[in-house]
Amino acid sequence: MASNLHFLIIPLMCPGHLIPMVDMAKLIAQHSVTVTVVITPGNAKRYGAVLHRAIASGLPVKLLQLQFPASDHGLPDGCESVDDLPTFNLTKNFFDALATFQKPLEHVFNNLEPIPSCIISDKHLTWTAEVANKFRIPWVIFDGMSCFTQLATHNLCVSKIHEKLSDFDTLILPGLPDKISMTKAQLPGLFNPGSSAKAKEMLSIRERIREAELEAYGTLINSFDALETRYIDQFRKVKQGRVWCIGPFSNSNKNDLDKAQRGSKDSINNHECMTWLDSQRNRSVIYACLGSLTRLTPLQFIELALGLEDSQFAFILVVKGGSRTEEIEQWLGENGFESRVKGRGVLIRGWASQVLILSHPAVGAFLTHCGWNSTIEGVCAGVPMIAWPQFAEQFFNERLVVQVLGTGVGVGAQRVMHLDDDNRDAIQVKRGDVCKAVKMVMDEGREGEERREKAKYLKQMAAKTLEEEGSSQLNLKLFIEEIRLHTHKGQLVG
Ligand code: UDP
Repeated sequence: MASNLHFLIIPLMCPGHLIPMVDMAKLIAQHSVTVTVVITPGNAKRYGAVLHRAIASGLPVKLLQLQFPASDHGLPDGCESVDDLPTFNLTKNFFDALATFQKPLEHVFNNLEPIPSCIISDKHLTWTAEVANKFRIPWVIFDGMSCFTQLATHNLCVSKIHEKLSDFDTLILPGLPDKISMTKAQLPGLFNPGSSAKAKEMLSIRERIREAELEAYGTLINSFDALETRYIDQFRKVKQGRVWCIGPFSNSNKNDLDKAQRGSKDSINNHECMTWLDSQRNRSVIYACLGSLTRLTPLQFIELALGLEDSQFAFILVVKGGSRTEEIEQWLGENGFESRVKGRGVLIRGWASQVLILSHPAVGAFLTHCGWNSTIEGVCAGVPMIAWPQFAEQFFNERLVVQVLGTGVGVGAQRVMHLDDDNRDAIQVKRGDVCKAVKMVMDEGREGEERREKAKYLKQMAAKTLEEEGSSQLNLKLFIEEIRLHTHKGQLVG
């Protein structure tokens, strides 16, 4: 039976944010706390299958659908997710459209049952702090990033050492438990905004998010204690203990249907892909997917495809061309790539059932852009990674995987690619770099074996942490207890 606690969950409508928050909602509801996920009709369709199965299984999960005013904000009709944007230059419009949810939410707030005890929202939705303030409940942010990133970000904000550097100067990230060096050009947008037409606008949004974030009651993180212990400990100190690592969320999807439909409807292409994987040797296939937002330039895509081909390994390559899909398809057709790699390489156009694919024993390595969800999903799958960071904090995640965890190799990317920069380098990584990294990670010698052993160990740790007495379950119980006490105190005072 549900308790009288009720958490209102407000995600950013973007796969890398909505997917983990849907998983998180299910995890919280398993503790008899009612959760209401605020969502738009289009996303309710996209994520509905998984959510409705959770509801049908008896979990106290509810959906609160709010109309998304896309066209009022210069967005195409039906565009309800950041990955639907025709160009990332419209990101601010998208955020503005989401901010219109504040009024309708405040309007229905007191009719929600039971009355919400806290808001858990994506940190990008700073207006949700005002809603929480107005109704005097804690505003807890979900930060879809690691504690490594949190700590590195905090320390850079305090030290400001990046401000005196030019793009390719190297810095040692201040105050971290390990010695991690990178260039300014590899830092996230808050420290390295780029020079696109929208760079200034995005920087001021990021700064506002940062300011608001400092006022939050606490932070929930999709990570687990054994993964980045020293980073978590230090970040907890920075936040006076109000950090709860309750992941890895992707492990909450126990059956194949939930895994297959996570983030989208299952596609026929995915069925074919799973059948093909069944015919492959254990740990022999490279799965290459650069997340939901990365759109490689056609020239860069070609280098990736040819690098995989040159490696001689079997592979799955997820193709997301966005507005340049036609050019990519034209190359694929003219070059004869698909017929050349037939039987050895599978292309998935559109959405891949990533967690399902990664859980297949035939997958031997994951070529990833190091988005945090993908990174932690790779960890849960126990596969070594080929790290090709693209944007945001992805170079931090690359360093975590390659240097701290020792489960991956980098392809040698040199700088972040700003999503809204249409003039970005056409090619950053050559086919030779891809091929070399693939061969290195699949190497059967001592180094390759060590990487695989470490990855296997982390997979076991990841599985344990969500068991009854696992650290993430305990952290989640502590978090719920904290909100219960807070609510109780508030009722006494009120
Ligand atoms: N994802 C997926 N299929 C795809 C692309 C992405 O299932 O074809 C999922 C992936 O499993 C992850 C999320 O989308 O959960 C992407 O989040 P991440 O933080 O890795 O990267 P982003 O898309 O935000 O760059």
